[in-house]
Amino acid sequence: MDLIWHRQPIFLATRARSMSNTLVLTGGSRGIGAATALRAARAGYAVALTYLGNAQAASAIVEAIERGGGRALAIQADVAKADDITRLFDTVDREFGRLDALVNNAGITAQQMRVDAMDVARLQRVFDTNILGSFLCAQAAVRRMSTRYGGRGGAIVNLSSAAARLGSPGEFVDYAASKGAIDTFTLGLAKEVAGEGIRVNAVRPGLIDTDIHASSGEPGRLERLKPSVPLQRAGSADEVAAAIVWLLSDDASYVTGTCLDVAGGR
Ligand code: NAP
Repeated sequence: MDLIWHRQPIFLATRARSMSNTLVLTGGSRGIGAATALRAARAGYAVALTYLGNAQAASAIVEAIERGGGRALAIQADVAKADDITRLFDTVDREFGRLDALVNNAGITAQQMRVDAMDVARLQRVFDTNILGSFLCAQAAVRRMSTRYGGRGGAIVNLSSAAARLGSPGEFVDYAASKGAIDTFTLGLAKEVAGEGIRVNAVRPGLIDTDIHASSGEPGRLERLKPSVPLQRAGSADEVAAAIVWLLSDDASYVTGTCLDVAGGR
């Protein structure tokens, strides 16, 4: 297992246990997740961030948080694998000793194509990463945060997408449908755990300037689609992170079961 600490782990773990609210953030090495890790750390969270393969990028985010006086730990974990999720939360229990918040951010698209061209392996990977991963992480978080299990309550934010409303025809309907599932998951789980001290919300980003567009085979996608955005520009990862960290905070104490569009009006 890869764990990235940059100071003495026992000292940090002790401080985190006694002082800081702890956030588990999946996919914190790049893009929206990285921006969220930095903002959450500034808001006082100890951050357990995960990555899939990019240890160097994850390490850079941990270092940046520590330079600002915060606490962070990077953990390699594939959210599409149940055993990795179990190991992730066991590590957080051991190193931080508490859990207060979860951001289900890790998500993927795949090469742009029509539905009739998508093979089973691609569909499986997209659905397992975007849907199954969010379910498994939320299960683990609820078992730790819910008052039903002796927890203190907490907050969950899921990353949906404006694609859930638009459908993404000819590009990635599988991705859009996986985010539609996240919207429904958010609504249902929010109602299920509302009486147990946990708020559950989603953020639906629009066109945000991250690597994900190049991953779908079109690095120029933002430029092409910019004119379709009422605000006439792509959003930044930090603009999405601001909404996520607000939803986690007590300022959003009466907000649950909501999908918040951060999409420039698109
Ligand atoms: P990104 O720049 O491609 O970064 C993806 C992050 O997720 C990376 O940290 C990556 O880790 C991690 N990751 C990917 N697969 C994973 C897996 N199986 N297990 C664990 N971690 C995994 O993506 P992004 O644009 O920031 O998107 C973040 C979220 O926002 C996603 O859920 C996405 O669907 C949603 N979203 C994005 C946009 C947009 O325009 N960017 C719009 C709507 C919704 P490595 O660095 O190790 O690869």
